Amino acid sequence: MTGMLSLIMNANNLFDFGVCAFEKIADKLIDCDNQHRIPPFAESVICVVFPTNADVVFDDPGEVFRLRRVASQMLELTCTALRKAFNEYKFEWFLDDSPVPDVMAASLCGLGAIGDSGLLLTPQYGSFCFIGNIITDLIIPETGDETSECIHCKKCIKQCPAGALSEQSGFDKAKCVKYVSSSGNSRSNAFLLRQGAAVKGCNTCREVCPYNQNIGRANDHPFIKAATNPDSIYTSDGGYKPMGGLGQEKFHKLPDDF
Ligand code: SF4
Ligand code: SF4
Repeated sequence: MTGMLSLIMNANNLFDFGVCAFEKIADKLIDCDNQHRIPPFAESVICVVFPTNADVVFDDPGEVFRLRRVASQMLELTCTALRKAFNEYKFEWFLDDSPVPDVMAASLCGLGAIGDSGLLLTPQYGSFCFIGNIITDLIIPETGDETSECIHCKKCIKQCPAGALSEQSGFDKAKCVKYVSSSGNSRSNAFLLRQGAAVKGCNTCREVCPYNQNIGRANDHPFIKAATNPDSIYTSDGGYKPMGGLGQEKFHKLPDDF
């Protein structure tokens, strides 16, 4: 079964994934509207790492949207394939709006360490990545192993321009330039501007992290290739299918065999 899972994940170009038991995060779920989508009797969480360490800088909101859209498409296609292969079980995917504490879950899956920056530190992409997850009521063997640890150099804490990181209380998203600027809260943006911080695209905690100093570029990763092709939709055979302006609604109406 693990072999079948790997086959399906790899066939959909999801190479960096791991599995942990749902019970390990069940009492740490994030209170959000999507909790109701978690399958009843959930057993396993599959975490997927999507790289962003490419020559293209994904700072523009349109580019970030495209990243998210392609990752969503990959997860949707994968879940469709998993539902066909394991047709007695449920598979639900989540991305930004996930009830799963994704960094913790990804670490439990053995995908990386939890940094003092609050970010996942992966061996292959450092913290230049984001996480998607699939929750299922299928029992899948866990993949978590000891991984490297954050070396607690504190560079991210000391150099955060907004004081959003601290040794005592960890990450405060209400102060984070990147988080607040992407949330569209203009009052918070104005506050941060007065603090002298650049509202758009703060990456300081990533740029200073030693884990990110010797990582390669993921330019050839199918995810990056699809995400940098603005007029295309990703397909499971590795090709790109021009779809024009595909909205969320239209996306969810795509036929099963798309
Ligand atoms: S993105 Fe910028 S503001 Fe947010 S925690 Fe990292 S360094 Fe601080
Ligand atoms: S900058 Fe240092 S303390 Fe912060 S996450 Fe990276 S290794 Fe850990």
